[in-house]
Order: sequence, then structure tokens, then C-alpha cells
Amino acid sequence: MDEPEFFQQGERLGVLTTQPLDRVLDYRAPEGGCFRGAFVEVPLGPRKVLGVVWGHGAGDFDSSKLRAVIRVLDVAPMRDEMRAFLTKAADYTLTPLPAMLRLATRAPGLSDPPSMRKVLRPSDGVPDRMTDARQRVLAVTEEFGGLSFTPKELADLAGVTPSVVKGLVKQGALREEDAPRDLPFPPLNPDLPGKALTVDQAAAASALNAGVVSGRYGTTLLKGVTGSGKTEVYLEAVASALRQGRQALVLLPEIALTAEFLKRVKARFGATPAEWHSGVTMTERRRVWKMIGQGKAQLVIGARSALFLPYRDLGLIIVDEEHDTSYKQDDGVSYNARDMAVLRAAMCSAQVVLASATPSLETWANADSGKYKRLDLTARFGTSVLPEMRAIDMRDEELLPSTWISPTLKQAMKLRLERGEQSLLFLNRRGFAPLTICRACGAQVACDNCDARMVEHRFMKRLMCHQCGETKPIPDACPSCKVEGKMAPVGPGIERLGEEAAALFPEARIAVLSSDLFGSARALKQRIEEIAAGEADIILGTQLVAKGHNFPLLTLVGVIDADLGLQGSDLRAGERTFQLMRQVSGRAGRAERPGEALLQSFQPDHPVIRAILSGDEEEYWRTEAEQRRIAGVPPYGRMAGIILSGTDLAQVFDLGNALARAAAPLQQVGAMLYGPAPAPIARVRGRHRVRMLIKAEKTVPLQDAIARWIAPFRMKGDLRLSVDIDPQNF
Ligand code: ADP
Ligand code: ZN
Repeated sequence: MDEPEFFQQGERLGVLTTQPLDRVLDYRAPEGGCFRGAFVEVPLGPRKVLGVVWGHGAGDFDSSKLRAVIRVLDVAPMRDEMRAFLTKAADYTLTPLPAMLRLATRAPGLSDPPSMRKVLRPSDGVPDRMTDARQRVLAVTEEFGGLSFTPKELADLAGVTPSVVKGLVKQGALREEDAPRDLPFPPLNPDLPGKALTVDQAAAASALNAGVVSGRYGTTLLKGVTGSGKTEVYLEAVASALRQGRQALVLLPEIALTAEFLKRVKARFGATPAEWHSGVTMTERRRVWKMIGQGKAQLVIGARSALFLPYRDLGLIIVDEEHDTSYKQDDGVSYNARDMAVLRAAMCSAQVVLASATPSLETWANADSGKYKRLDLTARFGTSVLPEMRAIDMRDEELLPSTWISPTLKQAMKLRLERGEQSLLFLNRRGFAPLTICRACGAQVACDNCDARMVEHRFMKRLMCHQCGETKPIPDACPSCKVEGKMAPVGPGIERLGEEAAALFPEARIAVLSSDLFGSARALKQRIEEIAAGEADIILGTQLVAKGHNFPLLTLVGVIDADLGLQGSDLRAGERTFQLMRQVSGRAGRAERPGEALLQSFQPDHPVIRAILSGDEEEYWRTEAEQRRIAGVPPYGRMAGIILSGTDLAQVFDLGNALARAAAPLQQVGAMLYGPAPAPIARVRGRHRVRMLIKAEKTVPLQDAIARWIAPFRMKGDLRLSVDIDPQNF
């Protein structure tokens, strides 16, 4: 590794702080000097703030007034490649650099002095007499020779009272020492025997390994049906990276999947890797952040924000379920973790593996054009086969009002019950009913803060807004016409479907899996484990169940409303439905028993439904790709969304209109501007939202044009402007 540039004491430097100032500030290097990339504390007005030495100072500020860096923090300096990554990511997403830096410094206590703790180590002293308890304590110190413990930890591990430990210290058999509080992660062993791979799997693994060994950047789509062994294969690539002495990152779309994954890693590499997501405690976060910087955490399992950790030498990034929409979210900075992973990898000569049974169209197209490599695992591992898929034509089914399980589906469920197998009914709608309407006047209950209907949650006995989470009691009288006793639920939610299933099969054990029915991720995980162990006959689930859980007894998947998601103007709706349906169907027949998937649909001839049923995925993607090409939308054209928001609708529209009048920078590059118009969700948490869409040809430098366009606008009052490059909904 190249040594970064060193700045002598007093030299003028540019420091990027995490404060919302859109430029690098000049300071003098502190006593003892500092490296470029050093994390520092600098004075800003009366405050001390966190920053990173970004390079030379700009020099346009009077030297005599220059203030000095207060101190250099005791963490590894930011690597040049990380600075380059943050800069590119900021340019790509049109995010101010300080906001990017905040993502990269999301660990508490970075500016705390290195914290030490008192630990005990074995010493030469011989105790006057040896008791059982004393022996146990000494045995523990020996067993964990390399590690050191606080007196309390040692007493706990040995199962003795603290006084026993104290006695040994007094007698000189143990001695106190200072040790850093943040412990390194135990080493992982890539050479433990993995599973014996099938021929297909082995070929894919060796192709990935070749990429890792090359030490160069490259992205590979690893496509394979659920259960085909993608995870086994990419764990081999992780092993390769570890052998090269480089770090690896595995991104998972959902925290609930982490625990199971950690177990698999432990079984494969003999130790537990680092974790990084919102469920990780503050102290643990600081430890992970620091150890990654020192190269003392080899593997991280994490959420998308793990891309911003200060890796010492990152050689491999896995994006599991790469198509998952949770990778694209707005937490202040709007980015797609899949794209950022590719950017990050390109900056540090790492390999990226995008794993999915149903890749996003973007990734499919990049593999198709040869920009990414592509590896296919076609067979499921072992004897399990893909379920047989059929549509139930709902136009031919007789259903009672307010019921949704067709006679055909019911029959299939009955068969499973008799055989002692499980059925899963899938409906991507949380709550009891999507609508609560007044039978007297037809009014619907809407959220007070958002432009959204309230959804009845019978389990909570309240109505809930799925936009802002606001709840209110289910009203007795209609809020509009005041007539009492006429409010009624309309349409199915997962809870209501649970009631229907219970009424059809009173003897069956029924489990409803929806995120709002569980207080914690742990409670949900436990329920999933119980179900996997066979403690339910009929499972009802929202999209939660589509992801990665393995139910060996499951042989039937019933999709209640396969058409849901096909409506609407969203160009990605078809793609999403396709992915979701294939994924849900993949839940059936994972073990020895073959599975069946039944899709209830009113339009079984819809191209998407036909593609799902035919199993000819390539044909589906080619068609979808062609439509996007004709429409000139991503991945064949470029798009960006601008969301304007504020509490006063007129002001928000005024801003939109002013922007529209000033759109010359967009016109110059031939980009089209649409709007301002109300955003798909026009009001959230009391703020009005107005959207503008920009469309351009693939070759247009869109970010640059947008940056020039919006630069003159200053946000007044509570007005906000946010840019979303490659929006998900358009
Ligand atoms: P995917 O990630 O494609 O869904 P997994 O890697 O999770 O597939 O594999 C599905 C199941 O099959 C897992 O329990 C895995 O351990 C097992 N499996 C896959 N390949 C092998 C193999 N070669 N030998 C033994 N078990 C395997
Ligand atoms: Zn709301």
C-alpha cells in the first residue's frame, strides 16, 4: 500500500467536515503533522466538529487567520480509494459530500480517546493453595490464552465468585493490564472443508475464484433458482478473498436473515464474522468500524450502509437478492446499494457478485451486453425440483362475497392437510382490510397527515396509515356522514385471509406472518423456526415470506391475487410481480417433496402471468427489455426524479414552476422535463410533495446538467428539494 501524503505541522490543509457546508475548509496541520485522510477534530465557530483531511488547502483564505486542527483521532486514516468513492458517489447521487461523509462516519464515539479496560492475564505467582474454584479460573485463562478478560468476565466464565479471582490477583497468579476495549474479531479459517459442490456449483465457484485471485475489479451476476446453492458458491468466493488476505462484505436485503446466515458462516469458517445493521448496538458498531479499519475484521455481514465502512482492503462484495427493492431506499441520501457496491468495488479493485433467482432488469441487461459476467445455476440442489405452476382462472371460480380462497385452491389445501404437508397463502397486503368505508355514504377513512387511506389492523384493533405509521381507533360512526354502525372493511388483508382460512379449516393450525404482528425481529424469527419445524399447517404471509426462508414441509403455494401489482402506471410493476411470484413459488418443494404453485388471476393471459407460468424467463426479460428500450427508460435511457416538499402546497408548486422556467441547462443537453405534478404519494406526514421527472438519452451527462440547473435555487423556510437518480417508481 502506498503511504498517503504527510502534512507537516503548520501546513495549510483542506478538511471536509460532516457539517452541511458545501466545501472543504482550510486549517493548519496540528503539532506532529498528519496524513491525508486523517480523521480530525477541528474548530468551527465555537464548536468542535469531526472531519477528514481531504488534501491541500485551497489557499484563498488569509493565512494569519487560519485555525489549527485540534487533534488527530486515533483511528486509521481514510484511504484514498474511500475518498474517491465518496466523491464519485456524491457526484452520482447529487448528494453534498458532507452528507456522504456522514454515512462513512456512522459509528458512535469515533472521537473518544482510545478506550482501555483493565484485564487479567496469567502471571508467574503461585497461589498458596489450589482450590477447585481457583483451578477453574486458571483453566479459563489458559484455554483462551490469547484473549484477556475483565475480572467479572473471568469469574462468569469460570462460574466462580469475584472474590476467587481477586484472591488469585493478590497472590500474583494473575496480573492486571490495560487492554483496548475494542477486541479484534476472531480469525476465520477459509480452509475448513466446505460442502462437496456439484459439477455446476464447482464451475461457478471456480469462475468467481478466478475473479477474486485476479485482484482486479469485475462484476458477476450469479443467477440460480432458490435452493440451487448460490450461497454455497459465493461462500467459496469469500474463502478465496480471505486466502488473499482481503476483506469481504455480504449484503443481505433484510436483517431477519442475518442470524441464519451467521450460523452458516460459522459452520463454514469456524468463527462468527462482524455484523453491521440497525440492530447492532452502539458499542459493537464502534468496534466493527475500528476493526474493519485495522483489517481485524475479515468479513462483514450487513445492510446497505456497510458499503461505507472503512475497509482496509476490500476484495469482494456480495449483494444477495440483488433485485430486492430494499436496496434502494431513502435514508437522507438516496442511493441503490447494488450500484454503489459496483462503484465501491471499481475503486478498490474488488469483485462484485450479484446473486439472485430473479435479477433486476438492469443487471440482466448488463449481463446481456457483456458488461457483467454471468453464471447460471440451473438445477436445485439434491432431489428438490421447482414447483409446478398453474393459474387459477378466477373468472371461472364461484366465490362467496368477501372471500378470496377459490374452490380450486381450497381443494389443493385440503389435500396437503390430509398428507400432513404445509400450504402457504401469499398476499402482499398487511393488515385486515385495505379499505374501511361507510356503507351509508361511501366515504373512506383517510390519514390526517398523508394522502393515503387508513388500513384496518384487527390484531391491533386500530386503523393504520402505511405511509406514516399513524394509527387511530376504528370509528363507530362515519367521520363524514356521522351515521353509526355502517363502517365496514372492504377487500382482503393478510389478517382477514387468516380468518377465512380458519373458517374453512377449523382443525388446521394457522400461522399469519406479517411484520406488524411481531414485536421484534427475534419473535418473528422464532415463529419462522417453529413453522419450519412443522408447527403450522397453513401459513399466510406478506412479502416477508418470499425471502430466503426454508420450510421443508411446504408443498403448496397459493398466490391469492397474482394481478396485484400489475395495475398502475409503474413501469417496474411487471418486473416486480414477476420476481415476487417466482420467489414465492420457490418456497414450495424445497426438500424431497415436490411442490405446486397456484396463481389466482383474473387475467391469466397477461404477458407477465404467462411468463411466470411458462418458466421461460429469458423470453420474459427480452420482452421487458425491448419495451423499456422503446420507451427510452432505464436501463436504456436515463431518469431522475426531483421531489419538492413543504407544508404549504402553493409554495411548493411555486418552486416547481420556477424550476421549470429555469430549465435551460436541461434543454441544452436534450433532456426532457415533466412536471411539476403531485408526487405518487402527494402528502406524507403533513408535507406536500410535488415531483418533477427528467428523462434523457443514455449518453447525456445528466447529473452535471441537473446540478447546474438547481444550483441557483436556495430553499427558503421549510421547503426541501431532493434528487433521486434512477428512481424506482416512474
Ligand atoms: P440459494 O442461495 O441458491 O438459495 P443455498 O446455497 O442456500 O441456495 O442452498 C440451498 C440448500 O441446499 C442449503 O441448505 C445448502 O446448504 C444446500 N446445499 C446446496 N449445495 C449443496 C452441496 N453441494 N452440498 C450439500 N448441501 C448443499
Ligand atoms: Zn399518514
